Amino acid sequence: MHEMSLMESVIDIVCETARQHGATRVKSVRLDVGVLSHADPDALLFCYQAVRHGTIAQAATLEINRIPGEGWCLDCAKTVALAERFGGCPDCGRHRVQMTAGDELKIRDMEVI
Ligand SMILES: [Zn+2]
Repeated sequence: MHEMSLMESVIDIVCETARQHGATRVKSVRLDVGVLSHADPDALLFCYQAVRHGTIAQAATLEINRIPGEGWCLDCAKTVALAERFGGCPDCGRHRVQMTAGDELKIRDMEVI
């Protein structure tokens, strides 16, 4: 499952960052997950609960912040909402839209003790 390796990386980064700051426990983690990314939030949460076990983030809560899809339409020369990957422009209907947001999966912030 690809969410499992994603969350393993997230937990690695979170624990490493917490240690660098001299923290002994992680209280919460917030993730930015684009709606156009291939990661499913329910699967992410499930995998998170599995991989945090036995780490200093064992009791840390996870909040998933959904980032809407956006793209740059080459024909309209403006930013438009993108409902799906490689979707058409909602204004002109053409498919010359380059995705600029909605594909991310990154740690927004975290709280440590
Ligand atoms: Zn357009």
